[in-house]
Amino acid sequence: NAIELQKEEQKVAINKNDYKNVWVYAEQRHGEISSVVFELLNEGRILADKLGVKLAAVLIGDNIKSKAQELINRGADKVYVYDDPAFIEFQDDPYSSVLTQLITKEKPEIILMGATNIGRSFASRVAARINTGLTADCTALDIDLETRNLQQTRPAFGGNIMATILTPKHRPQMATVRHKVFKEAKVQEGRKGEVVECKADISTLLNRTKFLGFIKDASGNVNISDADIIVSGGRGLGKPEGFKLIEELAELLGGAVGASRAAVDADWIPYSHQVGQTGRTVAPKVYVACGISGQIQHMVGMGSSDVIIAINKDASCPMMQTATYALEGDLYEIIPNIIKEIKAS
Ligand code: FAD
Repeated sequence: NAIELQKEEQKVAINKNDYKNVWVYAEQRHGEISSVVFELLNEGRILADKLGVKLAAVLIGDNIKSKAQELINRGADKVYVYDDPAFIEFQDDPYSSVLTQLITKEKPEIILMGATNIGRSFASRVAARINTGLTADCTALDIDLETRNLQQTRPAFGGNIMATILTPKHRPQMATVRHKVFKEAKVQEGRKGEVVECKADISTLLNRTKFLGFIKDASGNVNISDADIIVSGGRGLGKPEGFKLIEELAELLGGAVGASRAAVDADWIPYSHQVGQTGRTVAPKVYVACGISGQIQHMVGMGSSDVIIAINKDASCPMMQTATYALEGDLYEIIPNIIKEIKAS
């Protein structure tokens, strides 16, 4: 009812002028900063410059302080570091507690995180604790300079439209952003910046989970998000064995194997290979789409690849229309010929 609504509005009524600066959460695992962080620093720098504010990064981990300069070299003006053995592995509760404390104290205007497994879990908890909104899985960001509202664009309604979302009454404005939608910030060796060492009272931090161990993916598969070349197979393969051909071509090209959702849903290949709206976003130098029609939900995941090669029987399908090179014909004839040529060269 109206009174309840008014109460809610009062609860979130905040003085927007108290909030300034753009923050990037510097996600790391075992001391290695995720490459999405460098992409966010690039975009964060653009937003901070437009708003005339500083760009800061927040780094939480164990034995991690030495990594702060890496973030400064990529454009951060300031790095807040929580370096404590208690943060050796990512756990939602203690990480959310310290970040919430820091946000409440420093009041950033915008906070960006990667739409990774960690970012998705972490950002939502932090947003709920500080009573602000969160736009998940953004694929574009911009700023309205008059209102200082962050324009957060993401696919909506099954990827059929792109929605631009504003959170005009809330600060900070929080977004998770997909890997590979922005280019990485360039390294500027020896760039100057401020490192702020933060201390957390570990004994007071909530922790309802126990970390048992970290099991590395032993499959040896190339991570499609980081691959320069991806050879992807779709329903056009017609059978699971079709992926043997895809794997052979990928291996010869030194690339990774991707797939459409149709191939994943048919159980021909595990979900970790799926490219698209409900899979991974990729931006390789070369994307080879074999028997994939190019529905919008697939295209949003690979559309910014530098070169797209499509192999398809149907020259009129969206993938063939979008491709840099469109090879019309049966993939079971075309791919073995390509493999033969590569082997002969
Ligand atoms: P199809 O559309 O069936 O295309 C098969 C293609 O193979 C055709 O173009 C055909 O001409 C060609 N072909 C057939 N035989 C041969 C041959 N012998 N040689 C050469 N070409 C041949 N899809 C994704 O991929 N990723 C996602 O993340 C994703 N998320 C989704 C989320 C939602 C909410 C929804 C509703 C859908 C999502 N989809 C996603 C599904 C998407 O809409 C399509 O259904 C899917 O991408 C189709 O896969 P495909 O191109 O392999 O199959």
